Amino acid sequence: MTQHIGTKCVQAGYRPNNGEPRQIPIVQSTTFRYESSEAMGKLFDLEAAGYFYTRLQNPTNDYVAAKIAALEGGTAAMLTSSGQAANFFATFNVASQGDHVVSSSAIYGGTFNLFNVTMRRMGIDFTFVQPDASEEELDAAFKPNTKAVFGETIASPALAVLDIERFAKVARKHGVPLIVDNTFPTPINCRPFEWGCDIVTHSTTKYMDGHGAGVGGCIVDSGNFNWDAHKDKFPGLTTPDESYHGIVYTEKFGQGGAFITKCTAQLMRDFGSIQSPMNAFLLNLGLESLHLRMKRHSENGQKVAEWLEANDKVAWVNYPGLKSNRYYALAQKYLPNGSCGVVSFGVKGGRAAAEKFMAKLQIAAIETHVADARSCVLHPANATHRQLSDEELVACGVGPDMIRLSLGLEDVEDLIGDLEQALSVV
Ligand SMILES: *Cc1c(COP(=O)(O)O)cnc(C)c1O
Repeated sequence: MTQHIGTKCVQAGYRPNNGEPRQIPIVQSTTFRYESSEAMGKLFDLEAAGYFYTRLQNPTNDYVAAKIAALEGGTAAMLTSSGQAANFFATFNVASQGDHVVSSSAIYGGTFNLFNVTMRRMGIDFTFVQPDASEEELDAAFKPNTKAVFGETIASPALAVLDIERFAKVARKHGVPLIVDNTFPTPINCRPFEWGCDIVTHSTTKYMDGHGAGVGGCIVDSGNFNWDAHKDKFPGLTTPDESYHGIVYTEKFGQGGAFITKCTAQLMRDFGSIQSPMNAFLLNLGLESLHLRMKRHSENGQKVAEWLEANDKVAWVNYPGLKSNRYYALAQKYLPNGSCGVVSFGVKGGRAAAEKFMAKLQIAAIETHVADARSCVLHPANATHRQLSDEELVACGVGPDMIRLSLGLEDVEDLIGDLEQALSVV
């Protein structure tokens, strides 16, 4: 019987046998014991499934990864130590030195830097396109050595909505996978695989954990990309891996298992960005209420965005759930049940007014974080972007008046009351 997403949030990934713990056990152990060298050897050869060292795999992490795979509708998943590690692994698993990736320009700043600076240094080239680019514009970005397309369902913090179906169509036409960072909507509000995306990534640090408790990431494979049909493009998945006795990942683990097994066996082995089992346990507690929390975060986001838009001390509001928004039509298509709890807006009076407003807030705390149970707020011109002049701020789309507000799970009347009293000084 297929289950609804809320049931999966609570039940998927771990099912105890007779007499076993009801809650996911935290296997706080680096290593695992074996009766014979032969038995252990089979694991090293990827001949048998099992655990030998937590850098590669740990039962707690696997239970939680299996739950996220079920939520996204994928065939396999792995946890990573952070969202940064998830996005690096997901792209580096298919693109290496001499390759090229097409990416939406509306992506998280950390991911943009990873691509545009660090991965370029590794010899991987990137072309950036608009999240609502036309098919012709997307086609023009491809090169013979393009190995993947990347985007974010809702860009953090620009709040642009990706045209997933169009990006997927063009990626498929060029024989490469579409990778989508689905951090902001979570699988509760959007499941990119249903629109043709091949690989999903997450910063679980945000809504999935949801309580500001642990940094983490996740990669999920849809199992829908036929690597063998594009053997020449993806030799890492379709030809023998000499570091694993000549295993061919697609042959041995099939279309649904090859990507995650290669990513674990090669990249986690060599880079070691594993999530701690304790953090995976905390993440699972967050996942158990994700369906309830996302509903509340999205409702609070929508109500506050509408209230701000009607306030005459507010210069502009950016939220994909507003009819006035450039991405409203895409949000209606991909996010019909709500988008997220993050809203950005400008206060009339620029930088000075924004500073006064920030100082007056009582509930929302000043943090660089977003997507937490507790509301938080940031004035980028005075924090993450404070090295830039007013002119430079405008040029990079983060005006001196811009406030980024992440609505938590509090009662919306109190959040609006707090905004109202803080705006009274502007
Ligand atoms: C925060 C964030 C990341 C980075 O994740 P970390 O867990 O902080 O490493 C990646 N993508 C998006 C959309 C994010 O919001």
